[in-house]
Amino acid sequence: MDRPDWHGPLTEAYEQATRFLTGLPEREVGSRATLEELRAALGGPLPDAGSDAREVVARLAEAADPGIVASPSGRFFGFVIGGATPAALAADWLTATWDQNAGLYAAGPAAAVVEDVAGGWLRDLFGLPAQASAGFVTGAQMSHVTALAAARHEVLRRAGWDVETDGLHGAPRIAVLAGADRHSTIDRALRFLGIGTAALVPVDVDDQGRMTTAGLRAALAGLDGPAIVCAQLGNVNTGAFDPIGEICDVAHAAGAWVHVDGAFGLWAATSARLRHLVTGVDRADSWTTDAHKWLNVPYDSGLVFCAHPAAHRAAMGVRAAYLVHAGGDERDALDYNPEFSRRARGFAVYAALRALGRTGVESLIDRGCDLAARFARRMSGRVLNDVVLNQVLVGFGPATPDLVRRVQAEGTCWVSGTLWRGAPAMRFSVSNFTTDEADIDRAADTILRLAAGT
Ligand SMILES: *Cc1c(COP(=O)(O)O)cnc(C)c1O
Repeated sequence: MDRPDWHGPLTEAYEQATRFLTGLPEREVGSRATLEELRAALGGPLPDAGSDAREVVARLAEAADPGIVASPSGRFFGFVIGGATPAALAADWLTATWDQNAGLYAAGPAAAVVEDVAGGWLRDLFGLPAQASAGFVTGAQMSHVTALAAARHEVLRRAGWDVETDGLHGAPRIAVLAGADRHSTIDRALRFLGIGTAALVPVDVDDQGRMTTAGLRAALAGLDGPAIVCAQLGNVNTGAFDPIGEICDVAHAAGAWVHVDGAFGLWAATSARLRHLVTGVDRADSWTTDAHKWLNVPYDSGLVFCAHPAAHRAAMGVRAAYLVHAGGDERDALDYNPEFSRRARGFAVYAALRALGRTGVESLIDRGCDLAARFARRMSGRVLNDVVLNQVLVGFGPATPDLVRRVQAEGTCWVSGTLWRGAPAMRFSVSNFTTDEADIDRAADTILRLAAGT
């Protein structure tokens, strides 16, 4: 076979990428195409004959462009979505280029070492125990599945049950205590794990969505048997933090496992100013966070940590005669991950951390909070939450959903909507590393102008 032409398609991708990235500051933030337009531009039957690779890349970029949401833009404030820093993005390109199967050390030694190193840096940044095991997963969703599988193993092992061998048929029932304002990915993880959402015991929350310690005490008092407590650092609407230190004390006194959903809130641990919000987080049993949100690593990139490496491995580990398993000190990622073959996700996380350094991570987090506070000042009188992190909830009464749609259509910025305590609200999340004061002011001006109907 002729040697493939790498240069043409990769040059095209490089040119398309740099045009997109440098255009972000002025690009309309939302998608500009309808479903019908995108289907017309991208659809049709698969041609019989192939095409030149560079041509394919050029046509793909051209046809997809109107349907690309500029979520890496500094004025994208929807959901909790970060962009991609230059180092992380470039390392991600190399990840695809090297195309390592990062399940086994033997198939990608450098990928395994990079995950080990970056996992250690993150443990250190978050103040987690040095012996905690780490896994690089697709996102917080699969991090929950991994951590709660380890929790399921451990709480049932203590009850004399081997869940990996015997499954859940006939097993002692596990109770899962979680705040009423938990993220929906907790419920979904319980479905995947066969624990079921009926195992959930909702715990009282306060006006910011924080689990109350009294509520947890009361919920635990009615239980005996295996229990898992799911705490949250960073409520997806308000940004509020559960009192994690007290939760660990109360839960551990009752023999329960504590899992922490810190998809974006765990990053508060990297900031001297915010660290008090997560005091005691090191006493939990497992932790979930994302790199693709606040660290601004490209999708998909989540992280799981577990204070009980034996439970982590018991839940995830796999052996087969044809595989080459690590014999010594090497790390096989498939022993810590729900995937088998997998992308070498550690490279982009490693590059992101290396480029920012400890102080760069801290200022990234602090800046997001400062900018959220700046936006909240502009929305004065309409802010519905205590702004403790990077999340601001704004209420414009019953007209809020319509205003959210108009803001999205106008294109200067992009915000999403939610319901908070039964009332419609606009969610504003500052998660992008390029967002600056001017972006906040332009977004605030636009929102206030559209709200005033002018
Ligand atoms: C975003 C988020 C999740 C889900 O994360 P994914 O990375 O999308 O799987 C879970 N919990 C919280 C608090 C979140 O903000």
